[in-house]
Formats: sequence, C-alpha cells, structure tokens
Amino acid sequence: MQYRRFGKTNVMLSALGFGTNRFAVSSPDNEREIEEAACLVREAVLQGVNYIDVANTYSRGCAETIVKKALKGIDDSHAHITVKVRNYGGTITADETYRRICDSLAKMGKERASFFVAWGIRSYKEFQSFIKKGKLYDGALRAQVNGLIDHICCSLHVSPSDIIKIMESGMFEGVTISYSALNYQMMRKVLEKAEELDIGVITMNSLGGGVIPQNPEFFQFLKMANDESAAAGALRFSYSHPQITCLLSGMASQVEVRGNVSAFSAGESQINRRKRLDAVDASFKELSNFCTGCNYCGGCPSGIDTAMLMQAYNQIYFTNDKPRFNRAGRRLLENINIAVMLLQQSFMPDSAVNPCKQCGLCEEKCTQSIPVIERLKELYGRFDESAFSKEHIKARLGELIVNAGYKRIAFYAAGGYTAQVLQYLKQFYPDYRPEIFLFDTNPKLWGSYNSGIEIQDPAKLPEIKPNIVVISQYTWQDEIYDALRHLESEISIVKLHKNYDALWLPGGGDNHSKTT
Ligand code: SF4
Ligand code: SF4
Repeated sequence: MQYRRFGKTNVMLSALGFGTNRFAVSSPDNEREIEEAACLVREAVLQGVNYIDVANTYSRGCAETIVKKALKGIDDSHAHITVKVRNYGGTITADETYRRICDSLAKMGKERASFFVAWGIRSYKEFQSFIKKGKLYDGALRAQVNGLIDHICCSLHVSPSDIIKIMESGMFEGVTISYSALNYQMMRKVLEKAEELDIGVITMNSLGGGVIPQNPEFFQFLKMANDESAAAGALRFSYSHPQITCLLSGMASQVEVRGNVSAFSAGESQINRRKRLDAVDASFKELSNFCTGCNYCGGCPSGIDTAMLMQAYNQIYFTNDKPRFNRAGRRLLENINIAVMLLQQSFMPDSAVNPCKQCGLCEEKCTQSIPVIERLKELYGRFDESAFSKEHIKARLGELIVNAGYKRIAFYAAGGYTAQVLQYLKQFYPDYRPEIFLFDTNPKLWGSYNSGIEIQDPAKLPEIKPNIVVISQYTWQDEIYDALRHLESEISIVKLHKNYDALWLPGGGDNHSKTT
C-alpha cells in the first residue's frame, strides 16, 4: 500500500480509503451481514488501508457498529476513522454537534477520532451558516480542545470556485471532493490551490459514481499497459495527481477490496504518473463531440456556464441501463446522471426555459466543435421533463402542501434530503409557517434533531395525526408509501417525487433504511 502525507497534519494516509456506505446490510438486526461487512473492513485494514470514512447513517445506520466489530481484536493503532456531522441547513448547534461526535465515538468504541468531517456542504451559504458562533464549527472546535478529534476537515459538493473560497478560509486541514476522469479538467484548479495552501485532499467518486466500470469500452483509454482494467486505470489516474492523498472507495465485496488494494500495492514512478496524466489528457482531446471542460467557450453574454453544462451533457455517452436510486429507464437514468453532475457543482436552473440567445459565440470558440446550441436545447428540455429546476420544485411544494394550507405537516424520512426540502419550502414560501414534524425509520435518529425539529418514531403518527405525511425520501419512496398506506383513511399520504423526477440534491436521497 502506498501512503502520502495529508496536508499539514503529518498523518500518512493510505492511497485507498474505505467508504462505509455501500455494505449489503438489510437491517441493523442482521448479525450475519454485519459480521460479513466487518470482515471486509478488517481485511482492508490488515492490507494497509488506514483511512475509514464513517457516518452515523451510512449503510442503514450500521457503519459505526461494523467498524467497531472490524477493529476489535486487531492492532488498529495505525487506522484513522472519521466522525461526520451534517449541517442540516445551518440549524445544527454546537451542542448537538458535540453530542453527535460523542455518540459516534461511543458506537465505534473509540475515545477519539483522527478526523472530524463537516459533512456534505452544498453551498457557500451553508458554509457561512455553520461557522457562525454557537453552530457546527464551534462544536467541532470544542471536541478538538477536549481531545475527541484531532483534525477538522469537510466534504464538499459545491463549485470549484466555492471549494477554493472555503479552503482559503483556513478553517479546514483537509477536504473531501469528487474527482475522477469525468470532472478532472474542472477540478484541477482546486488541487492546485490545495497544494498552495497545503490542505490535504481526499477524493470520492473516483470511478465517476460507477460510470467508468459500467462503460469499460468507452474508457478503455484509461487503462495503461499494466492496469488490470479501465477502473484500475481510473483509480491510478486520480492518484497520479500528487495533491491527492487518499481515494475513497465504497467496497461491498472481497473482490472489490482485493482489486482496489492491488491497484495501489505498487507505486508508480513520477515519470510514469506524468505520462499517465498526459496520455489521458490527449485521449480526451481526441474524442470528437466530447466536452473536455477546457472552458475556451467561456464568456457567454447570457451568463450561461457552457463548459459546465456541456460536461454534464457528456453523461449521455455513459449511461447504461443499470438501475440507480431504485429507478430504471435509460432516459431517466441519463437525466439523473446529468442532474447529479450539475448538483455537484451546486447548479440547478431557476427554470427550464433555455436562456441561450443563439448568438453562436461559444460554438465559434469550442475546441471540440461541439454543437452547444443544440445541446443546450436538449438539456433544458430534459430539465423540464425531469422537474429539475427551482421553478418545478416550487410548483410541486405548492401543489402538494402550501396551496391546501395544511397546518400540520409531517416529512418522512428525516435525512439530508428532507433538510434540503425544508430549506426550499422556507425559501419559496417564506410566509407559510406550518407546524412541521419529522419521522424516520432509523431508531438511532429518534430524539435527535434535523433543522431544529425533533425526529420521531413513525409509530407515533396516528397519535400526532398531522394533516399530511410527505414522503421525502427519493430512493425508497414506494416502500415507505406501502408501509404507511394503512394510515391513509385518517391522514393524507403523498410522495414528494414523481417517478420521472431527477434528483433535487447531490448524493441522491437519504441514507436511511427503507421501512420494512
Ligand atoms: S450561443 Fe447561447 S450559450 Fe453560446 S454564447 Fe451565445 S447565448 Fe451563450
Ligand atoms: S470549448 Fe467546447 S470542449 Fe471546451 S468546455 Fe467549451 S464546450 Fe467543452
């Protein structure tokens, strides 16, 4: 296993990090599945993986238990675990942050964690909200002073320029960002800035959210002479950037653990790493009709970020028919992939009306002869059909909740997706102030707070009797609906998302278990 120093921390991290959100665990009571998942982590740690990315809701709320089991009885002195706390739209207090850190450590059987991660920052505004006095960052600082955590880091789903601004704040020793062959041209400036500031970089989505292994023929050019596969080539490509310390991979099988570990078992010379980067750059340039993200088309008089949108359009080349987020259908999957890519840049159009004035300037400058005007037309058409715009979200919330004037509304489930939906509700309907309740299947969340609202056991629904239950979970909405429909004679039960909707926020739905 190869190791690199993580920014100024002087901690040496393994090239491969273990993401714990992809274990095949159906419920917290399934001891066999939990033990199998723990074996995977244990094997990876024994093979030299020393960064384990854990959050309380990962793998249906079982990740902490799995990591505790995995590390029991082995020498884990070199292993670095994370505790992660989400900001929930700026509402989480320092006390709640501190409590969650203690809770996570207790569940993992640890007295301290190497890294605290302010988890899943989705906008610069959100960053500004949690650095206010008495908010999340204060809670992390207190935990650091009390010896519960060593280093404060963050994970980001924002545009490259906002990542740079957040790094420049000097508040984080490391960042976790999406980085792969699909977005590297846009993200390279982030790496350059991280190097300048000596901030550690951990990357997620090194395989482009599964797109690269699912499209090996398209990405054949990532596979160099000694690579076992295009996916192994993609991992080594990311690690060829000297600014990247560790690549996170969510591994769910022994084959994946062994394959990924072997991709980093032997180091490459600096010359070979340079050659790999140059070869990939050259191959992308040769792909006709494929946006390389070079941004030569910049300066649109209508303010359209053509490079970002054309990079998102590239997704159409990659989609295959494997269901994602419990959704199927080629076109819908394409729309979801486009939305995911754009949301990772914090972009959602205000409306699905195409703002292009067809002046042709961008097409004149494009190095790849991309028909930008045509593609914009198609993209905005897709935004319309998949409800991917702020205008669509406003209309949906109006039609389901606000127009009826409901006074008592319940949301189910209570994770990051719901926090975002609550923000949209406040943003689009500032004068509408109903009483809001949150419910979630995961008992570990009961009694804790999201957006300042207590999360409750769904068994209390008949007693609390809201006017309406809005199922705000994207992936498991049908299962949740089936589990709640017996209440329908007394309470209105609705699904927030239609079957043709693309995602409304990065990551795609909450990490909660479906209701069983
Ligand atoms: S053609 Fe459209 S996208 Fe291109 S520069 Fe003109 S207005 Fe902007
Ligand atoms: S100039 Fe062409 S290839 Fe470069 S970013 Fe713009 S659309 Fe993409």
